[in-house]
Amino acid sequence: MHLNTDGLVITENTTGESDRIVTLLTRDHGIIRAFARGAKSVKNRNMSGTQIFAYSRFSVYRGRDAYIIDDAQPIEVFYKLRENLESISLAQYFCELAAYFAPEENDADEYLSVILNALYLLSNGKRPQPFLKAVTELRLMSLSGYMPSLLACNGCGKYIDDVMYFDSQNGLIHCQECSSYGIPISSGILTAMRHICLSDPKKIFSFSMPDESLKFLSSVTEDYMSRHIDKKFKTLSFYKSLKEGI
Ligand SMILES: [Zn+2]
Repeated sequence: MHLNTDGLVITENTTGESDRIVTLLTRDHGIIRAFARGAKSVKNRNMSGTQIFAYSRFSVYRGRDAYIIDDAQPIEVFYKLRENLESISLAQYFCELAAYFAPEENDADEYLSVILNALYLLSNGKRPQPFLKAVTELRLMSLSGYMPSLLACNGCGKYIDDVMYFDSQNGLIHCQECSSYGIPISSGILTAMRHICLSDPKKIFSFSMPDESLKFLSSVTEDYMSRHIDKKFKTLSFYKSLKEGI
């Protein structure tokens, strides 16, 4: 079987003297693990297109035991990410999220588009990191069947209020009259969360908020994820240790 698809390298490991084993998030076939012969060698034509964070056009065939990369033509390699340790570590976290949430050997167009947009915005440094983190976490959760129910108060159906309560455990919101269980969130935070979950894929990154609100939003989306996903992301712990200066 031969596959032609574009995709992003989300993990890269060396094997043998100069071979690579990579995990790809591909548009048409989701997560694929593949072998790239000789790709660690600088002389190899697939060296650039199979390195971590490379977004490439892949030609892959199924060998007896594994997928093997025939050809990897880089489209975008996000070199600027490498200039800053925080950016690299947040990008690695996004890749770990993709590896966890995206389907295997199935269409993953929207997952790929979320991660590529996040890496693009992260590499050019024009959007705050907590913003990119919050959008990526909550949208990937939503795509994978963990979308919280944010349309209205779960008790009375009220659409919006100055403050509402986000019940992270059950993925619900309540107005102040119905229940004060959960995290109090402003109407701005609620509107942002609705936007991330429900807007057109091309528009999920097109809103802005003050930095303090973005930090809070990022803590809410992270809390929501940690309550529903039974996995500790090592790359997130590392990123947070950098931010805290430990
Ligand atoms: Zn209510």
